Amino acid sequence: MTGNGSEGAARSVAGRLLETLAAPFPVEGRDTYLSVSVGIALATDDGATAADLLREAAIALDRAKADPNERTTVFTPAMSDVSIERLELEADLRRALGRDELEVFYQPLVDLHTGSVVGHEALARWRHPTRGLLGPYEFISLAEETGLIIPLGDRILTEACRQTRAWQLEYPSKPPLVVSVNLSARQLARPDLADSVLAALAASGLPASSLELEITETIVMRDAQASGLTLRRLHDLGVRLALDDFGTGYSSLAYISRLPLDIIKVDRSFVAGLADSTVNHSIIAAVSALARGLRVEVTAEGIERQEELEAVVRLGCDRGQGFLFSKPMPAPKAAAALARTRAA
Ligand code: C2E
Ligand code: MG
Ligand code: MG
Repeated sequence: MTGNGSEGAARSVAGRLLETLAAPFPVEGRDTYLSVSVGIALATDDGATAADLLREAAIALDRAKADPNERTTVFTPAMSDVSIERLELEADLRRALGRDELEVFYQPLVDLHTGSVVGHEALARWRHPTRGLLGPYEFISLAEETGLIIPLGDRILTEACRQTRAWQLEYPSKPPLVVSVNLSARQLARPDLADSVLAALAASGLPASSLELEITETIVMRDAQASGLTLRRLHDLGVRLALDDFGTGYSSLAYISRLPLDIIKVDRSFVAGLADSTVNHSIIAAVSALARGLRVEVTAEGIERQEELEAVVRLGCDRGQGFLFSKPMPAPKAAAALARTRAA
């Protein structure tokens, strides 16, 4: 909304609007509720035109919609800077998809019983032409909000399958190397997710049993029924499913027992400082016991120190991942590491 007056007056109009629209109204005999957000732009004497004010109100409205606790937001110039930066990053990301700027890094997954590398987790990176190498925290949520995660996710999945199949042929092992790919909420919500996974497997020749898909509890909980069906379909194809960052979400035993899971990945916050924390020790011991009962494998994430490695081995974890073994690497570096271990 735009208008001439003080912030207090604008907020009070917004308050009355929200109150009026909070009441249900009948649609075909049913009470229907609207969710309402208000963006406010204030006209000062800086010569802003009506078009400027409308744009500022729209930016404030976007903020209000994004924040569940803030139904009314007043525009501030700082919002404009952030919005412009996000808009630029979004345009860059669209361009990046058309060029070769997205890359997959690989972090080894180690069998804790034998010490050998059994595969990799595929982690997205963006070689931005001016900002340098960006990690997923800098672009995955933007990709998720804008829907670009769908082509981006397909790209990562296709490339990870292609690369892993090439490594399987070059460095044969029993069982063959696996690759673990992260899925986001929007990808899991796609009714055709299983088809795109099948397409990536067919194009690469990677056996379904060599692909693992990582999901988090938060993602599954968004639409438990639909995602349950999709996950079951993927599992029936032979793809293995991993519950990522376990312990940081709801950790609902009901979901764990209902989902067709093959792997639980214990979040690195429980592994860090394992040597000095009896609480973390007990949590990992309990997860291992639960996993054994459910015939699910346990991966310990974020192993950085020798003491942590020794502790997770003692606690019965099956696989490990972390900087102690290796940081995520570009494909050529990961290939060189495979060549070294296979030659040894
Ligand atoms: P994640 O799936 O839990 O991946 C593990 C993250 O922990 C990676 O961060 C990895 O670099 C980091 N890590 C591994 N070992 C250690 C360690 O010993 N110490 C510490 N401090 N960190 C360690 P990264 O690559 O920055 O990825 C962050 C998150 O972004 C991932 O967490 C995943 O949720 C998401 N992500 C990455 N790639 C993709 C993708 O292709 N698609 C989607 N949807 N999400 C992705
Ligand atoms: Mg992961
Ligand atoms: Mg994780």
